[in-house]
Amino acid sequence: MTFVSPVLTGPSDTHARARQHERAVAEAAAAYAALPPDQPVRLAKRTSNLFRTRAAATAPGLDLSALQGVIEVDAVARTARVGGLTTYEQLVDELLPHGFVPLVVPQLRTITIGGAVTGLGIEAASFRNGLPHESVLEMRILTGTGEVVTATPDGEHADLFRTFPNSYGSLGYALDLVIELEPALPYVSLRHVRFPSVAALQDVVDAVMTTRAHAGERVDFVDGVVFSATESYLTLARWTDDLEGRVRPSDYTGDDIFYRSIQTRRRDVLTAHDYLWRWDTDWFWCSRAFGAQVPAVRRLWPRHLLRSDVYWRIVALENRHHVMGRIDRWRGRPPNERVVQDVEIPLHRTADFVSWFLREVPIEPIWLCPIQLRPDTHGRHDDPGDDPPWPLYPMRRDERYVNVGFWSTVPVAPGAADGDVNRAIERQVTDLGGHKSLYSDAYYDEATFARLYGDAAYRPVKRRYDPDGRFATLYEKAVQAR
Ligand SMILES: Cc1cc2nc3c(=O)[nH]c(=O)nc-3n(C[C@H](O)[C@H](O)[C@H](O)COP(=O)(O)OP(=O)(O)OC[C@H]3O[C@@H](n4cnc5c(N)ncnc54)[C@H](O)[C@@H]3O)c2cc1C
Repeated sequence: MTFVSPVLTGPSDTHARARQHERAVAEAAAAYAALPPDQPVRLAKRTSNLFRTRAAATAPGLDLSALQGVIEVDAVARTARVGGLTTYEQLVDELLPHGFVPLVVPQLRTITIGGAVTGLGIEAASFRNGLPHESVLEMRILTGTGEVVTATPDGEHADLFRTFPNSYGSLGYALDLVIELEPALPYVSLRHVRFPSVAALQDVVDAVMTTRAHAGERVDFVDGVVFSATESYLTLARWTDDLEGRVRPSDYTGDDIFYRSIQTRRRDVLTAHDYLWRWDTDWFWCSRAFGAQVPAVRRLWPRHLLRSDVYWRIVALENRHHVMGRIDRWRGRPPNERVVQDVEIPLHRTADFVSWFLREVPIEPIWLCPIQLRPDTHGRHDDPGDDPPWPLYPMRRDERYVNVGFWSTVPVAPGAADGDVNRAIERQVTDLGGHKSLYSDAYYDEATFARLYGDAAYRPVKRRYDPDGRFATLYEKAVQAR
């Protein structure tokens, strides 16, 4: 049984949509072939969730924006073929009315499926559904040679399939993907549980990851917030089809702010749609930097502009013009270092990391999100040998992790240099057996980076699929911000 996106109505539309998509694929390959062969290629995209400041583009951009939308859904197999440039906002808008969602829906609306697969993504379902690329069954990729290949876990291009996650577009562009879906219910019921220490929270995460339940209730989603060493919360949530006695679900898209509700409410119910975007409205809590949480400002701020991509545009403007930096200098304040990172720490070292972080950095709140890679095709979580399933981000299947996210700035201490705090975090993460996502600033030297991010697996694939170096390398992109 198949259905197509709600903008389409019948089988003939399915075929029309598929034909239109095939035309877009052919046009993408033709546009790539027309680019000057001696210049590096970059993706021309209207939105981005990359935080590092990139050098001004000199290379021509490849516009793949036609590759958007749900092309086809198989409701029985619970799979969908989707364009690589489809945002999660569009995916949810098209799938949710039919009772489905992707297995992991990253929190920011404008993250695209191609971006989340090549740049990784995480969400409160990750403790049971892993990372977005783990629910990809097949991808068509435009490679550096200009070919469009179909990569699957076992086929001729299995090497590309395995190394694509965390390659950040340095091996090719995902034009479309077949992904697994899960059934959704209309509402999500939430419980916010307070802990006096992160160590106590860590123990409960471990238990929930084992039993997928807490205090007798099923748990479908888990994430957490640390407000201070003695005040942290887990939000344990589950799909539900009723309002549990309420007249209406809560609404955090206007005056009320979701992260504040965690401290004041023990239970809550949101629509599935609002739950999925609960963190987007205020960019977690980062909208406070723009005044959007001051009641007088919030009342004037149009609701539809309380969105992460709006804040992102403000940050992009600041990166270009450095207005705040100039004001700080004028006021005699020290310059600030940007500390915007997500790191994966083994679960049993999470409390150690957070206590080091709160002492040494310190930024709060901090976001926590438990994660474990999905079992292999035999349903096994053990890793035979030392071969990580996704070599460019070598998490182990048999290890439980917690993603720790912190997004702010700290003053550069006297005698210190911009980047020192980020470097200290990189060292601490490695010492604890963790990994750092690469969407933001990174400071590794080339040899360390090669060791930590699977260079031995990456190099032969880069040579095979991008022999002329049309795309910047992963190191150039992630550390040198090209
Ligand atoms: C403040 C902040 C918070 C974040 N929080 C989360 C979070 O909570 N959960 C989460 O999952 N992620 C989070 N991210 C990370 C985000 O998921 C990744 O940065 C992701 O790669 C962004 O996807 P995008 O579609 O916006 O891609 P872009 O930012 O446009 O591009 C990212 C990289 O991917 C490449 N790329 C984009 N599309 C494709 C494609 N189709 N094929 C191949 N390469 C492509 C680009 O060339 C670029 O190198 C966060 C990022 C920031 C800045």
